[in-house]
Amino acid sequence: MAFTPSLLPTLIEAISETIAENAEHVTALDQAIGDGDHVINLQRGLAALTAQSEALAQLDWAAALQKIGMTLMSTVGGASGSLYGTLFLAMSKACQQQPLTMSNVGAVFHQGVEAMKQRGKSDVGEKTMLDVLIPVATQLQHATQQQMDLSSILDSLEAVAIAGMESTQPMLATKGRASFLAERSRGWIDAGAKTAQLMICAITAVLRVQTAQ
Ligand code: ADP
Ligand code: MG
Repeated sequence: MAFTPSLLPTLIEAISETIAENAEHVTALDQAIGDGDHVINLQRGLAALTAQSEALAQLDWAAALQKIGMTLMSTVGGASGSLYGTLFLAMSKACQQQPLTMSNVGAVFHQGVEAMKQRGKSDVGEKTMLDVLIPVATQLQHATQQQMDLSSILDSLEAVAIAGMESTQPMLATKGRASFLAERSRGWIDAGAKTAQLMICAITAVLRVQTAQ
């Protein structure tokens, strides 16, 4: 498998599909403890990325990640727009010093997630998308340092993403709109955690197929 931005059109399509398939479920979660616009926000960004996907495929990783970050910043809106924009811009910056490869992707993703933590002033345990993305970043960094085989890496990332998403259900929200509900935020999975898990699992599914070819 060539680990290049030529993967981006397939990844963007797979992510758009999983968000569309789960739109009703995620919107119900977001209506329960948020303002119900999370899926619409993401889909605005995904539509913009779909329109750019062939152009993105021609760029190097640093330029492609920067373009994705800027597009998400300007189209998604809401908390998730600035957080995902920050993720991609920070990843772009991280791979300006060293080209992105399978061996440094863990470190690059970790830097992106660290920037999100700063932007959101949040950390694991606050009932947000970071309850998925932080453990996924830790696992990816660990797995690539250990030089695990790709299939085991993908399995472990899916397991960590699902566990992180499920962990948000009993949590008290302390960041974002759900925090306004205080104790009443408990009992629901966070919508942003659910979409982060869906996106991670869409990416791992694409990589699994690509590596089998
Ligand atoms: P908004 O809350 O502004 O309407 P969205 O509905 O698009 O934005 O996204 C909501 C999601 O963003 C939440 O479900 C949560 O996962 C995430 N989120 C909100 N605030 C923060 C924060 N400070 N840090 C990390 N994630 C956050
Ligand atoms: Mg919202």
